[in-house]
Amino acid sequence: MEKTRPVLKFELNKDLCKGCGLCIEACPVKNLEFSLELNRKGVKYAKIKDIEKCKGCGFCFLVCPDTCIEISYEK
Ligand code: SF4
Ligand code: SF4
Repeated sequence: MEKTRPVLKFELNKDLCKGCGLCIEACPVKNLEFSLELNRKGVKYAKIKDIEKCKGCGFCFLVCPDTCIEISYEK
């Protein structure tokens, strides 16, 4: 039987984000960027560019000081 690949789920809580940019710097494939809009804190929050390009490495999750990012796999 063919194995199905788990689906990567990436979530970023934009209203927790303080716009420090650490995750943007940490992403090895430059897949994060600042939004053009402001969040509830009045800062340009980080967002993912293309979920298909995400490697699931978790570097962004590890460096975020405010635990805004969650990465999980759905089977
Ligand atoms: S999990 Fe890795 S590849 Fe995906 S956005 Fe975060 S740092 Fe970039
Ligand atoms: S590291 Fe966390 S707080 Fe900083 S920009 Fe990224 S998501 Fe926002």
